[in-house]
Amino acid sequence: MNERLITSLRQPEDSETEVESLRPARLADYIGQKKVKENMAVFIRAALSRGEALDHVLLFGPPGLGKTTLAGIIAAELGVNMRATSGPTIERPGDLAALLTALEPRDVLFIDEIHRLSRTAEEVLYAAMEDCCLDIMIGKGPSARSIRLALSPFTLVGATTRAGMLSSPLRDRFGVNCRLEYYPPEELVIIVRRAARILRLPLTEEGALEIARRSRGTPRVANRLLKRIRDYALEWGRETVDAATAAEALDRLDVDRRGFDYLDQKVLRAIIEKFDGGPVGLETLAAMAGEEADTLEDVVEPFLLQQGFIARTPRGRVATAEACRYFGRPAPEKTGLREQSFFDENGTV
Ligand code: ADP
Repeated sequence: MNERLITSLRQPEDSETEVESLRPARLADYIGQKKVKENMAVFIRAALSRGEALDHVLLFGPPGLGKTTLAGIIAAELGVNMRATSGPTIERPGDLAALLTALEPRDVLFIDEIHRLSRTAEEVLYAAMEDCCLDIMIGKGPSARSIRLALSPFTLVGATTRAGMLSSPLRDRFGVNCRLEYYPPEELVIIVRRAARILRLPLTEEGALEIARRSRGTPRVANRLLKRIRDYALEWGRETVDAATAAEALDRLDVDRRGFDYLDQKVLRAIIEKFDGGPVGLETLAAMAGEEADTLEDVVEPFLLQQGFIARTPRGRVATAEACRYFGRPAPEKTGLREQSFFDENGTV
């Protein structure tokens, strides 16, 4: 398997119309993330009643948790249009200026992967976000001068997997900060059942729970697994997807009972078996797994951390005793000491 089936990164197949139809369009259909949803509802109502643009919103969290979806919902609830772009596609400040000047009053501009915006483009955003204007340089050399262009009031919704990589001047300009969390199985059950209804696929409650448990807390993964299971069900002549069908298909897909796939397993096994539980540096791990360090840091590591299977220390990543137990290994004494409770919030000892 070359492509990771349970990758939470967006894949070409995810943009198919069928998959797009699974994306909730209104806040009421957006499952989970209770606190974020409640807060957003208040801010949206306030902006609407004042007839003003909503304050700029920064959404952060691992891929596939619903940042793009939430941006679309914000625009829909505000009754405005959303223009979407992403940090790496904005090559020159002019690209950003073109987008900003095309916005209608109170529109939403969505910038995905905002931490990958170039420095010069980022500087254009400062004045746009703060004073609703663009400073444009005309001419070169001694005759160069700057003119100020007024923009319509707008809402920037920025999404990032790495809040820590945002420069502080940019981060400070967001009035609303929302952190999206991994979804517990009971919320993923609702998401999967909703998706099955849209895809007209009969799915039992237990079948939904089986998928939910193995979806890495991520709606994008849950929807993708559901589609693959649907293929197996068709192949096997099963009209309804129950727990047994879901489990059988997921085993075939090499997604284990905790939702770990070959890459998670490879990383965990490397730490436990090759490095005696760690600590091991991210770059070394990435080289061993044959993956980009960025992918490990964005996609693999956050879930393993959240599950309490690895922990971060100043000297690298370590496997926890739970991870050793999971792979049927005795926790080496030094690894055994590394239960989550020995680490503070930042994962440091
Ligand atoms: P991100 O932008 O964080 O990578 P997306 O917003 O593209 O993630 O979400 C991926 C898919 O997961 C969406 O197409 C949607 O179908 C589903 N999804 C995400 N969040 C939710 C949610 N809260 N409720 C229901 N479905 C969701």
